[in-house]
Amino acid sequence: MSRIAIVGGGIAGVTAAAALAADGHEVALFERESQLGYHASGRSAAVFEENYGNATIRAFNRATAPVLTGMNALTPRGIMLVAGADQSHGFRADVAELDMREIPVVEARDRVPILSDSVAFAAINMGASDIDTDAVLQGFVKAARTHGARIETGARVEAISPGHGLRVSGSELPADIVINAAGAWADEMAGLAGVPGLGLQPYRRSMARLPAPGGHDVRDWPMLLGAGESWYAKPDAGGWIVSPAEEDPVDPMDAWADDMVLAEGLDRYAAFVTEPVTRVEANWAGLRTFAPDRSLVIGEEPLAPGFFWLAGQGGYGFQTCASAALHLSALIAGQPSPLGRAVTRAVSPERFRPGQA
Ligand SMILES: Cc1cc2nc3c(=O)[nH]c(=O)nc-3n(C[C@H](O)[C@H](O)[C@H](O)COP(=O)(O)OP(=O)(O)OC[C@H]3O[C@@H](n4cnc5c(N)ncnc54)[C@H](O)[C@@H]3O)c2cc1C
Repeated sequence: MSRIAIVGGGIAGVTAAAALAADGHEVALFERESQLGYHASGRSAAVFEENYGNATIRAFNRATAPVLTGMNALTPRGIMLVAGADQSHGFRADVAELDMREIPVVEARDRVPILSDSVAFAAINMGASDIDTDAVLQGFVKAARTHGARIETGARVEAISPGHGLRVSGSELPADIVINAAGAWADEMAGLAGVPGLGLQPYRRSMARLPAPGGHDVRDWPMLLGAGESWYAKPDAGGWIVSPAEEDPVDPMDAWADDMVLAEGLDRYAAFVTEPVTRVEANWAGLRTFAPDRSLVIGEEPLAPGFFWLAGQGGYGFQTCASAALHLSALIAGQPSPLGRAVTRAVSPERFRPGQA
């Protein structure tokens, strides 16, 4: 069994801590902020949609679903796609991509009565669920601690010596293995370990919370998605959240919503509904960090044995979390991954280090 240090206390880090501690490793997780899930993991839209993401991501989605179901963390929600008369091409592409069923606009309006005359096409997929992201994060924290993992907040990783240890808030600590679950800062962590980054790029995505439109009871409405992921909206704790669904590349940071981007996104949404946006109760933004090919990065760094990546979760970090951690634990145990060899290759960091494996 190994001494394993995990950098990052978002959903990736805590899920890995739970899986690796359950395997019997001596696990310590370090989170720089004073609370877990402060960055991307505290800002998600909390949707589980099995068909969202490329084929590799979908394999992780499918394998995570039973775990989240077992935690009672999934509640059926459904996604309804809406499009204008000039968006038929994008609409058809989304229907195929998300395995949706086209429905008459009148039926769409029965489900969500605020749809305006601009809606020319509609489709639905009732397979999508809400994720209780707090319950998932806390559930894995509890499981990790039950198996003896140490979880420290306010603990900044400052240096990494792969195979030997790391420096955390001024203290040197031994570790056989370091897991890089630092989200938007994952390439920065590679720098601390003396290896080049992989080109992981954080993209900002903003969100606005509005009062329930027109005072409707929105609790049973499906999520609404604008064609080409141009905006989305969904019920949230009795209110209504709307996202411009932007993907603006930014440096790793404590992200905030850009007023102009938010206003333009709210305009795109408002074109498809009858209720005007009169008040924004709150807004926020988070970073979705993608590898260049939009697949996860999980595996040992070929240039630094003992340094493992668990990064590039993009917009899928919750819906892939459990199987990503099980995949990592299989790699560390030197066992075949339950996700198979093709997926193992597709997420390995070796794909970005040709000739160096
Ligand atoms: C607006 C938005 C909507 C989303 N919607 C969904 C959705 O519907 N479904 C879904 O599955 N996913 C969704 N996502 C994606 C999901 O939230 C992320 O993929 C996931 O949270 C990433 O988790 P993480 O643990 O990798 O990163 P983070 O949660 O960002 O955690 C990384 C942590 O590493 C810490 N760290 C960095 N450097 C150091 C250091 N030197 N020392 C110690 N700690 C350090 C940071 O402080 C941070 O807390 C969404 C994301 C956003 C922003």
